[in-house]
Amino acid sequence: MVIGVLKEAGSEKRVALLPEAVMTLTKISVTVMVEKDAGLKAFAANADYEAAGAKIASKSEVISGSEMLIKINPLTDEEFQLINSGKIFLAQFNPLMNHQLVKKIAEKNLTSFSLDVIPRTSRAQAMDILSSMATVNGYKAVLTAANSIPKFFPMFMTAAGTITPAKVLILGAGVAGLQAIATSRKLGAVVQVFDVRAAVKEEVIGLGGKFVEVEGAVDDKSAGGYAVEQTEEFKKRQAEAIHNHAIKSDVVLCTAQIPGKKAPLLLKKETVESMKPGAVIVDLAASTGGNCELTKDGETIVHNGVTIIGNSNFAIDMPSDASKMFGKNILNFLNLMINNKGEFNLNWEDDIIKGTCVTHNREIVHERLKSLINQ
Ligand code: NAD
Repeated sequence: MVIGVLKEAGSEKRVALLPEAVMTLTKISVTVMVEKDAGLKAFAANADYEAAGAKIASKSEVISGSEMLIKINPLTDEEFQLINSGKIFLAQFNPLMNHQLVKKIAEKNLTSFSLDVIPRTSRAQAMDILSSMATVNGYKAVLTAANSIPKFFPMFMTAAGTITPAKVLILGAGVAGLQAIATSRKLGAVVQVFDVRAAVKEEVIGLGGKFVEVEGAVDDKSAGGYAVEQTEEFKKRQAEAIHNHAIKSDVVLCTAQIPGKKAPLLLKKETVESMKPGAVIVDLAASTGGNCELTKDGETIVHNGVTIIGNSNFAIDMPSDASKMFGKNILNFLNLMINNKGEFNLNWEDDIIKGTCVTHNREIVHERLKSLINQ
């Protein structure tokens, strides 16, 4: 089995496999080819990869010489040109939203796996890149907010008077939201949290946050633990409750998502305009439209004295640990298809392999994606 690790393009600093992850594969006789300088921005030198048993090669050599290609982000146009049909491609390419890209991958006859659609089951937890990257995002969002507000996070009683703690409002208590609660509490803030899934209330309280309940949320048990679209009446009541809390907050962290859909709009322009000057909104849902009406993805803007940071990918600013977690998730996934002698076998009966595969034999095979495309 020959696995190729490609260098990421643009502002991406992470790499799919760090040398330590490569070594796990080379130890079981898998040949690993790594594109030259793939790990540099994550502080992994070519020599580190060579010491781990990898061969350093050019992009075209890695693509032509590997049976499976691994990346974090989708293939670039150049890579698409170079890749021959029949290869296996493993990355994170958000197939539930990027339908045209998926069609292109199917036409190329790649057997593709997108780790962001891995089933959310206990067995798949160790392969769940969304959880890993959400952990980084939740943590970094809090640090960014703490760095941007004009006051302290913790309460201080000093000779120069008492400093009140920062008030942090968190919208959405999934993996990123829960990490944001934990990090905000460690820094001493007072934390209030909204979510539509009642199941998360105990976790929020356990981390020291206050769960704000809004009556009448649709909590669909058949949605696999995810949130679903809410009724208009609920949205109105929730918007009012969020408004009342946001105007008293120093920080609002937006993390609410509905998989395969635009992020729910939870923070209206009027609310932002009633917030305290100097307050900061960090919108982690920016790439899917944002929870705040004024969010611009990838930009920081100031509106009426309120700073709005639209960033869904703080992970690129923590490339060492983010790559380490991503790589470990990949290794755990590869464990399902490569035995300890380095032999490759795709078991289509395995629900994780089946649930993560997006295209095979020129067809889109992912059930949820097929139903979204046919809607
Ligand atoms: P997500 O990124 O899809 O959404 C983030 C949060 O936003 C969720 O808690 C969601 O309920 C909330 N949300 C959506 N609409 C909202 C609205 N209108 N108002 C307020 N909040 C709203 O979520 P996630 O972090 O990917 O986690 C989703 C679920 O999957 C959780 O139950 C989590 O524990 C579970 N999970 C399971 C595994 C596993 O078993 N492998 C791994 C990770 C997460």
